[in-house]
Amino acid sequence: MNDVEQIIESLRRKQLRITPQRELIVRALTDVDDDEHQTAEEIHARVQASTSAVNIATIYRTLDMLVEEGLVTRVDLGGGKEVFATVQHGMHMHLVCRQCGHVLDADTQVLQDVRQYLVAEHGFSADLEHISLFGMCEACKQLTSSHEEL
Ligand SMILES: [Zn+2]
Ligand SMILES: [Zn+2]
Repeated sequence: MNDVEQIIESLRRKQLRITPQRELIVRALTDVDDDEHQTAEEIHARVQASTSAVNIATIYRTLDMLVEEGLVTRVDLGGGKEVFATVQHGMHMHLVCRQCGHVLDADTQVLQDVRQYLVAEHGFSADLEHISLFGMCEACKQLTSSHEEL
């Protein structure tokens, strides 16, 4: 089963309606290179290539539904930029510099400890598959500290 079929199959199992629009949106979501994320606008543009019958409000509603159902992840990359990817996209985190906006990708192995701790201490299962952490990048830190010396 490819990514599209997996998502469609999950919707079917959850007894959610599979409309042609929803199917197009799922296709648009998966129709990218492995590491790519898309904004709702980019997904809209991709869907518009096959039909103009899907408006941006439908895209937002469908993405919200897919996120709620745990089939798609939504990540905030700062500056009001939200991107979407399917869960098949895999685990990783983004380190977003709040100063220059640069985004670094990092391994999520270390988050396994955080996940286990949260379950043990609070019985809480955190969604850590695809997250962003905000902070300051190496270059900006150096700029800031050289300013402080002046
Ligand atoms: Zn920076
Ligand atoms: Zn990502």
